[in-house]
Amino acid sequence: MYSGKDVCKLAKQYNITFPYRKRFWPENITEEQMSFFKDTFIALNLHNADCLLPHTKLVSYPGEPKDKSNGFFIGGEDNNGIPFFAVGCGTKFDNWFPIFIHEFCHFEQWHTDSSAWVKGYFLGHDPLQLQTLWFDKKIELTKEQRKNIFNCSIKIELDCEKRAVHKIKQYNLPIDTKEYIQKANAYLYTYTMAMFSRRWRSMKTKSPYNNLDVWPNLPDTFQSDYSTIPPKIKSLYVKHVFKYNK
Ligand SMILES: [Zn+2]
Repeated sequence: MYSGKDVCKLAKQYNITFPYRKRFWPENITEEQMSFFKDTFIALNLHNADCLLPHTKLVSYPGEPKDKSNGFFIGGEDNNGIPFFAVGCGTKFDNWFPIFIHEFCHFEQWHTDSSAWVKGYFLGHDPLQLQTLWFDKKIELTKEQRKNIFNCSIKIELDCEKRAVHKIKQYNLPIDTKEYIQKANAYLYTYTMAMFSRRWRSMKTKSPYNNLDVWPNLPDTFQSDYSTIPPKIKSLYVKHVFKYNK
């Protein structure tokens, strides 16, 4: 058996700064988890990725201190050639570990030049950046553009989530894959909802993938199409996620 301290020590061997704090780790780290972490550190080191793994719940995008999220990955083409991997590790292990896996799968999409990552770009633009500009009413989009841009994001995220589930199974990681897929579906349908409502969610409500009124009611298998939202699922979002957005 290993501990979180061993994982952080291992990171150091690969020039990755990963500060250790006991309360953000479980009692034991399994052999399989250890080999998962080792493989991620090797790959990140090999591609000279910038890694940000702080004791905060959220991490900020480089140069944009107000723009915070649980984690992100930026491909080299958008960061002076240097890939950037970030996860806020200052929260319960059960919260940050799935995000670590998810963001690492984005890194894998990028460095393997997966078709989802490459085609996920909308005419050379990061769809997420275009969405943000549109949410902030800095640009306008036709219905057709909107659909294409959001579908790009959904394609990238769906491919990423499938990779994550594969990794959980491959390394026998202590995550319930059925629950993981339900939460992934909650995340994917957020894009569908955002496409219609021009915002991510009300700031007063929890993210759908953390919201116990939403994710446990979603399917535990991946869907073939997320461009429309089934009425039953839509009503969950309207009731629990977008309720302040009339
Ligand atoms: Zn993602």
